[in-house]
Amino acid sequence: MVIVIKPHASKQRIEELIYDIENNGIAVERVVGSDYTILGLVGDTSKIDIDRMRVNEIVHKVMRIQEPFKRANRLFHPKSSSIKVGDREFGGGKIGVIAGPCSVESEEQIVTIAKKVKEAGASFLRGGAFKPRTSPYSFQGLGYEGLEMLKIAKQETGLPIVSEILSENMVERFARDVDVIQVGARNMQNFMLLKELGKTRKPILLKRGLSATIEEWLMSAEYIMSEGNNNIILCERGIRTFEKYTRNTLDISAVPAIKRMSHLPIIVDPSHATGMGWMVMPMARAAVASGADGIMIEVHNDPEHALSDGNQSITPIEFNELMNSLRIISGAVGRSI
Ligand code: PEP
Ligand code: MN
Repeated sequence: MVIVIKPHASKQRIEELIYDIENNGIAVERVVGSDYTILGLVGDTSKIDIDRMRVNEIVHKVMRIQEPFKRANRLFHPKSSSIKVGDREFGGGKIGVIAGPCSVESEEQIVTIAKKVKEAGASFLRGGAFKPRTSPYSFQGLGYEGLEMLKIAKQETGLPIVSEILSENMVERFARDVDVIQVGARNMQNFMLLKELGKTRKPILLKRGLSATIEEWLMSAEYIMSEGNNNIILCERGIRTFEKYTRNTLDISAVPAIKRMSHLPIIVDPSHATGMGWMVMPMARAAVASGADGIMIEVHNDPEHALSDGNQSITPIEFNELMNSLRIISGAVGRSI
């Protein structure tokens, strides 16, 4: 971080500022010019409140050299992280495939779909038990009953389960019952929830917020990591733009951007990104080709009658076709499924 001091600032005020900064364990290099004094801060400046620094009346300008996220930053952790979930992982040489319905609707539905996606080669089963719907009158999910049904599907197929958590009072139960805890786009900046999840050691699937920048998304990962949980898988699921044709705009460039900025694995959810089943296949292929560590796909045995997101769900037959093509694409980018 570089701080430019205003001309005519008193020597005493400059000394006071340097004293405060050094008290935080940060070394200060001082360059005195004819008009400006420049302070170069050396050390971990991630805890420095840049806004507080800016309101100091002797400060002209503050510039960060380093990104504000540290634990998630590739600079400090050059080796890519791989997040283990039992005998499976995200971020190794294998593409992690999470598939299943948007919502758990019944035991029969989730078990049927689980068997189908496993047969096609999925490595994880997804299913929402608690649904963060835009309208309070839409189907809200089966709640903990849905979680129990997911556990039955896991028993039947051996597929680890991924399900979305909505609030911090659910953390204990989810940590016990779910293999990967999903934080949805709407909760990406629910900092109380992120901190509670940080106290567990469970793998967390952190979806990108509806309008979040990549840096804001990584800062949310940093919240979880700052409490000691480094098991984070990022998920690009489309962002809000002026384009209305698709439900969201899939930011595929987030994949190489995250790979450059962070060591955390990243997967792509083309279902919520596009909102249309017929677009899921080409976008999933693009995701794997771009270097994503996995994908998350909504699969329903009867999309027309799905209780949520039927329009963007693909059938088990289509999912099987997708998996066949992904085997070829993943081979071309040095991965396997
Ligand atoms: C979901 O995965 O079911 C979901 C609600 O996704 P998002 O949080 O990305 O909208
Ligand atoms: Mn959905």
